[in-house]
Amino acid sequence: MDRLVAESVTLANTTGFLMSKNGDAELKHVPFTVMPSPVKSVEFYRALKLCNLFNKLTVDVAADYAFLRETLAETAEGDKKFTGRLLALLDGARPAHSGIEFSINRYDYFVNASHWPEAPDSSRGLRMTEMNCIAAGGLAQAGLISKVHKMVVTHPAAAAAGVKVDPRSLPENNVLANSAFSCVLAHQEFCKMYAKKNWPSVRMVMVVIPPYCNACDQDMLRWRIWEQYKIDFLRLTLAEINDHGTIGDDGALFISNCKGISSFVVSVAYFRTGYAPYEYPTEKEWSGRALLERSNAVSCPSVAMQLVGTKKMQQVLDVPGVVEAFCPDEDDAALIRSCFVRQYDLEPGDAGDVAVKMALENPGAFVLKPQREGGGNNLYKEEMKELLLELSPEKRAAFTLMQRIHPASVKNIIVRDGKWEEGDLVCEIGIYGSIIRVKGEEVQNDVVGTSMKSKLRTLDDGGIGAGIAVYDSPRLI
Ligand code: ADP
Ligand code: MG
Repeated sequence: MDRLVAESVTLANTTGFLMSKNGDAELKHVPFTVMPSPVKSVEFYRALKLCNLFNKLTVDVAADYAFLRETLAETAEGDKKFTGRLLALLDGARPAHSGIEFSINRYDYFVNASHWPEAPDSSRGLRMTEMNCIAAGGLAQAGLISKVHKMVVTHPAAAAAGVKVDPRSLPENNVLANSAFSCVLAHQEFCKMYAKKNWPSVRMVMVVIPPYCNACDQDMLRWRIWEQYKIDFLRLTLAEINDHGTIGDDGALFISNCKGISSFVVSVAYFRTGYAPYEYPTEKEWSGRALLERSNAVSCPSVAMQLVGTKKMQQVLDVPGVVEAFCPDEDDAALIRSCFVRQYDLEPGDAGDVAVKMALENPGAFVLKPQREGGGNNLYKEEMKELLLELSPEKRAAFTLMQRIHPASVKNIIVRDGKWEEGDLVCEIGIYGSIIRVKGEEVQNDVVGTSMKSKLRTLDDGGIGAGIAVYDSPRLI
């Protein structure tokens, strides 16, 4: 196993499966599992099918501004400084279906899971933890671990360590190439829509924050697009967009005198930031964001799509009739619902009081989620109990309560900083989907790839950046 791990690390390093802990120059391999973990084929293919359904659902919900406003009103009130400000951006946003809508989302599920810890195998399946509708990371890294696993399992060091995996059971994962294609397709649709304009140059922008901890993952997408399509894809912060951006009469977002370029028009603004309050340290970031929303630049995602990904919206989708209102096909709606666990409204009122009582009586059966992204924000067990006892009903509305999901565990080996540790892991698969609509007409609704994160079954939350989960890939059984 020592040799297999050492060889895997050399492969991780040489394929660029790297990250920087503090955003500095020191790069380390991303933590990963030595072997791909087993996933039932039926669950894997169901997750792919669900991806197309969730793509359509999320873009339809994002187009319904009235529904977004009504659903998120109390949550915005309880979380004025963040959800409240995002919701306020909708007021200045372009009307739905007026231009190009584009998002790369990731739909995450525990595999072989149930809300009931003792569930028999026959009633286990995919259980959704959440939909990520902004800055879904891993577009490069999730594909790299698939590549590392595919190479490593056929190596003599694997056989010597007793690892027997048929490489044909590892599905293709072209997430980087496919997401590059999606970004370029959105760029080309933009160029087509505004073909008559005489703009000096049109470029793509990746919206980021320093210190770029995840820069390797982000930059591989930019370089892939340069390599294959020769489109300049600039890294800009929201503050830079604010400082250098102006909206022309035709709605175009011009960036002037920035990075040595005198002027260019933004086609696609692909976000890898903007999902947490600390990413808007000053008013400049908020006004940079507002500029993007008002302009005709294709924001991936729009603020409307970002709001669809709030924990509150995911709770509301669990309310009977809501999915059905957006997805009239009964079988499709039932398939979507099959992966939901119950979520509870915590707004002031009787229903919220009952939900809190239930959580206090049985804290191990629930997770408390604030309107935040990026891992490490959810509350479990005692911490959840303490906060629920302390919160006023108004503040409580900024959270949602979700049944705890209990996945079955598998044995695997985690490699971190070159050292390995064996353990019982639970696996969370994520399917990346890309959607493009031009004036409301669907141009793309595709699965672009797969990610898998695993963690020791005894741990609660699950971020890779937070040092809890590690990258894994599915082996179909
Ligand atoms: P974030 O947007 O911050 O990533 P998530 O809702 O995805 O928030 O939760 C982060 C992690 O917490 C997940 O990756 C998963 O490991 C764990 N988690 C989330 N929801 C549940 C749940 N209902 N039951 C058990 N674990 C959960
Ligand atoms: Mg998330």
